[in-house]
Amino acid sequence: MGEKLLQIENLHVEVEGREILKGLNLEIDKGDIHAIMGPNGSGKSTLAYVLTGRPGYEVTGGKIEYKGENVLELGPDERAQRGIFLAFQYPTEVPGVSVVNFLRTAYNAIHADSPKGAMDFRMYLQEKVDLLEIPTELVDRYVNQGFSGGEKKRNEILQMAVLNPELAIMDETDSGLDIDALKHVSAGVNKLAGPDVGIVLITHYQRLLNYIRPSVVHVLMGGRIVESGGFELAERLEAEGYAGVAKDLGLSAEELAEVEATEGAKV
Ligand code: ADP
Ligand code: MG
Repeated sequence: MGEKLLQIENLHVEVEGREILKGLNLEIDKGDIHAIMGPNGSGKSTLAYVLTGRPGYEVTGGKIEYKGENVLELGPDERAQRGIFLAFQYPTEVPGVSVVNFLRTAYNAIHADSPKGAMDFRMYLQEKVDLLEIPTELVDRYVNQGFSGGEKKRNEILQMAVLNPELAIMDETDSGLDIDALKHVSAGVNKLAGPDVGIVLITHYQRLLNYIRPSVVHVLMGGRIVESGGFELAERLEAEGYAGVAKDLGLSAEELAEVEATEGAKV
């Protein structure tokens, strides 16, 4: 068993006055790959954002410890400096800023004590570009501007490689990707996985997990983790749908109705 990395206990989170996470528990060790699967609107991105300290996501109860430290007392920058990284579900465009400059700024913000100059950083970046087999010309384009869905996600993985996090959260890194892009992005994540990093794969579909094998699969419904298991749990979700599985998991009538509404299936 690896070193304890993240411990979430009875986490309650409100967004715009509405409770989204309602007593979520989750523990991640170094070296683990955890998949968090859940219907649309179940709070997967909310969990990702609250871990990185995004404003507007109010923790109303519970605790989050990262390497033994209370994360809730740290600002977003401090969390990033300590090795928490989020690959966004919807990466944003940054017109006028090249990928290389964007990544160097992000790198130097985290390594304020040993920043890299332009030349140094280019060499460091080239290693990562080669490792991930990303076309070199991508790094001189403006961040995400005119990027295909696949290029955006590859750029997120490149950012992960550059920042070298200890806890990497990937929010629906598979969404909107065709099969070739999915394989490419998955291969990148697999190269960056290892004993020193804990990975949280947030996904709606089992498909991604054919390429990145999780150590544990969790189901997030009704604002909490309602079931955890192995890969077979992901296969069951694929076969029966969230609504099908929800019936067996002791959700309230109201929660079942919510799953039904978002998944468009009769519970
Ligand atoms: P998921 O990622 O699982 O699809 P989200 O975490 O994005 O779910 O959303 C969970 C719920 O919180 C949804 O009902 C969504 O509408 C609401 N929500 C999330 N972010 C915001 C926000 N910034 N403002 C208002 N509601 C939000
Ligand atoms: Mg989401």
